[in-house]
Amino acid sequence: MRWERSRVAFERAKRVIPGGVNSPARAFGAVGGHPIVIERGEGCRLYDIDGNSYIDYVLSWGPMILGHAHPAVVSALERAIHRGTSFGAPTELETQLAEVVCRLVPSVEKVRFVNSGTEATMSAIRLARAYTGRDKIVKFAGNYHGHVDCLLVAAGSSAATLGVPTSPGVTHAAAKDTLVLRYNDVGQLEDAFNQHGHEIAAVIVEPVAGNMGCVPADVAFLRKLRELTTAFGSLLIFDEVMTGFRVALGGAQSLLGILPDLTTLGKIIGGGLPVGAYGGRTEIMDHILPVGKVFQAGTLSGNPLAMAAGLATLQVLEQENPYPELEKRSQQLADGLLSLAARAGIPVQVQRCGSMLTLFFNSQPVRDWDTASQCDVKQFAQFFWAMLERGVYLPCSQYEAWFLSTVHSEREIDQTLEAAEAAFGQLR
Ligand code: PLP
Repeated sequence: MRWERSRVAFERAKRVIPGGVNSPARAFGAVGGHPIVIERGEGCRLYDIDGNSYIDYVLSWGPMILGHAHPAVVSALERAIHRGTSFGAPTELETQLAEVVCRLVPSVEKVRFVNSGTEATMSAIRLARAYTGRDKIVKFAGNYHGHVDCLLVAAGSSAATLGVPTSPGVTHAAAKDTLVLRYNDVGQLEDAFNQHGHEIAAVIVEPVAGNMGCVPADVAFLRKLRELTTAFGSLLIFDEVMTGFRVALGGAQSLLGILPDLTTLGKIIGGGLPVGAYGGRTEIMDHILPVGKVFQAGTLSGNPLAMAAGLATLQVLEQENPYPELEKRSQQLADGLLSLAARAGIPVQVQRCGSMLTLFFNSQPVRDWDTASQCDVKQFAQFFWAMLERGVYLPCSQYEAWFLSTVHSEREIDQTLEAAEAAFGQLR
């Protein structure tokens, strides 16, 4: 494959955009080389400016569950765009999308739309702090909730010490009220609540982690979380920015039967346009201005184009119920990858929930950030390039989830597995 135009375009981008990208995950930093520059997407395929095409398992990092340029989304956008692109005043589209979200996500009675997952988690944390009158929050190592200051925090020297910033520019003051615990570790959770329970405003968690690769939480761990937060009067926030409408129509909470107090959403609910949302019980959500006093606002929040794309996407998902088919295709891919790796003698784990999965180059199951960090990232990088050369576009990091769309058919799964067979054969 040739990527000369991409290389030149990326060099040009680097002169005016830091690192040539508007989000660091796109920069191929973990695998080396330069990114391919995309011209267009159609269905489950991407086309780069060099004329190469790829089966896409990134899907814009999750939103494009119907594939690229789905006709229902395109026509909803065409209809909306002719009516004007932003008003800063209420539209019926916002209410329609809110009604669908409230109907489908079990714990959500009211929802507020924002412009990104980051804004959603930032606002949910502020609301939780205001509602409880407490400052501390709990997060888990290896979970990502966007680039909110108080969530860009790593564990201190022991689990129950206060957090330390993971990015320059995040102040110690912003990090000091964040406790970082091990994912799936019930004992550590109990200790943290015994020590700090009455100071904890909220626990935020990815119920199926997708940001250290796909790592589903143990049900017993999430049940304990629900139990402890209820007992201590803290709010439980499920960050379903990735899992919402992905692992099931009602998100991970509908699969697990565990209801959080607040839910954050993004990605799929915008159909590929910039949207985030946070929602929960009316009694909590009505603390936001203009009903309550918690400030949160946005010039473009509830933008008509984003609402139209999101609504069209959710309507297709609700009408067509593609989840059983997504499950089947994803299982085929997971099974195929496992048996090909076994045949090549390469120790891997394939972890999956619905149509999100990760192939870990690791000899043991990944349950938390400690086990995730033992992956062979060099082997992953070789595999990544061997797949790209064969027309399969994977996330450019070991610690990301792959996504399938409703238009990844058996044919694409077969092609992917053919490529994987050759790629495994190439690993040293
Ligand atoms: N929460 C989770 C679970 C995510 O995966 C992400 C982004 O990948 C975010 C929050 C942040 O969303 P955004 O990138 O839209 O700000």
